[in-house]
Amino acid sequence: MKNKKHFVVAIDGPASSGKSTIAKNAAKLLNCIYIDSGAMYRAVGLYVHQNEIDIQNEEQVKKSLPEISIKIQNQGDGTDNKIILNSKDVSKAIRQPKISQNASIVAKYGAVRQKLVQLQRKIANNKSVIMDGRDIGTVVFPHADFKFFIIASAQERAKRRWKELREKGEEKPLQEVLDELKWRDKTDSSRKIAPLKRPKDAIEIDTTALSIEEQTNLVCNYITKKTAVH
Ligand code: C5P
Repeated sequence: MKNKKHFVVAIDGPASSGKSTIAKNAAKLLNCIYIDSGAMYRAVGLYVHQNEIDIQNEEQVKKSLPEISIKIQNQGDGTDNKIILNSKDVSKAIRQPKISQNASIVAKYGAVRQKLVQLQRKIANNKSVIMDGRDIGTVVFPHADFKFFIIASAQERAKRRWKELREKGEEKPLQEVLDELKWRDKTDSSRKIAPLKRPKDAIEIDTTALSIEEQTNLVCNYITKKTAVH
């Protein structure tokens, strides 16, 4: 590791566990690129929605894949991801709750995963990256230099998501947000291909009672202690 030019950090965990915040902050501190793999599944979910493709029909979704081009543009310091779907910036559109659900449905399909895993590996080629998602440490980069699994209680995650939505002007009862999160947890961890699970060699961090600074420091301190990267 010490002599390696590039390093890969895989950060997995359920929705709203804090992984993207940690990944972005750590990428800034460690001077590497952040890649949001969930945004890619969301982009496919958005395309299916916009083109009125029957999302429950795996064959139909599979057929549409050649029409879908996804690009991730790293903005500014490399930690802000702009998501381009067929030449359009969809960074905001993919964050709608309906699209979160769609992402989880299309993420069950083998052809979708194959296309996106290939893209994720290509983007990370020859770079130091921090990528977050559900299967980064298990499937995309099973030999990642560092693996973290970020968890938090469902109640805490729902509260975070509820706050986030409220800040965007989307008021919703907390219970509804909690139900949606639980549905997504169940869908993501029970699917046949690349389900959400803790990689055996990952360090688990429970962020329920930690501040963002504490979460980021835990991850960064671990990495900098083990490498000469800082
Ligand atoms: O991370 P985010 O919540 O944006 O991801 C949206 C959805 O995309 C997840 O609920 C999951 O179904 C899917 N996903 C996945 N594998 C990844 C990243 C996301 O299946 N590596």
